[in-house]
Amino acid sequence: MTTRTRVPALGAEGWFTPDADEPTLLGQQCTTCGTYAFPKAAYGCPNPACLGTEFHEVPLSRQGTVWSYTDARYQPPPPYVVPTAEHVPFAIAAVHLAAEGLVVMGQVVAGVSVDDLHVGQQVELVVDVLFSDDDVDHLIWKWKPVSGTGTGPDAGPGTEESN
Ligand SMILES: [Zn+2]
Repeated sequence: MTTRTRVPALGAEGWFTPDADEPTLLGQQCTTCGTYAFPKAAYGCPNPACLGTEFHEVPLSRQGTVWSYTDARYQPPPPYVVPTAEHVPFAIAAVHLAAEGLVVMGQVVAGVSVDDLHVGQQVELVVDVLFSDDDVDHLIWKWKPVSGTGTGPDAGPGTEESN
């Protein structure tokens, strides 16, 4: 019996908690002005009005709302690794985290297409396999619709197509 090793994919060590039951992205909060950053800011605070250079590492909200979305009809260039023999289109969502004021891109879990997504939809963070080789699963965060919150663009009165 072999045990598969799980590692963050493509240099994303420290970007998220890969093995938690309720995984989170790991961002930074400026100790001077409270602005959040993800990925972690390499130099200084992303707030142009702030000269802060010290940050706390903070877990980001596990849920957010879809701000925009699209799908990858074409195979992305390297370092993307095609997980299957042939490129299978997948959805990508930009998700607004209200508490942090951030928009975080990510793949949407397999089985969910752009037809299943709409702006304002509630999604949550999951950790999933991006690709596998030998005994190693390379992990990345993905967005997954929260079940029971809206079923599509026609979920209620007053909703507008905005894509
Ligand atoms: Zn700051």
